[in-house]
Amino acid sequence: MKGRILIDRELCKGCKYCVLACVRGVIAIDSEFNSSGYFPAKEAAVEKCNGCALCAQMCPELAIMVRKEEDAAKISSAA
Ligand code: SF4
Ligand code: SF4
Repeated sequence: MKGRILIDRELCKGCKYCVLACVRGVIAIDSEFNSSGYFPAKEAAVEKCNGCALCAQMCPELAIMVRKEEDAAKISSAA
């Protein structure tokens, strides 16, 4: 299974919980801060994401959305 994450860099407070949660090393911390002055998380190795959603579950700011490839296939077949 593959997945894709979307991080809202403006919601992010740079706590790194998602970085620690992702054993696949998909997420890193950006070197540019957001409008609130935090260094936000960013997608660093998107090809390694398996869609497990652990990162999103750990995020206290609800800044991460996860889409699984299976879901994307269902959506396109229903259309
Ligand atoms: S969904 Fe899983 S594999 Fe993908 S970035 Fe989040 S923790 Fe890592
Ligand atoms: S867990 Fe959420 S708030 Fe914390 S660094 Fe990751 S995306 Fe940002």
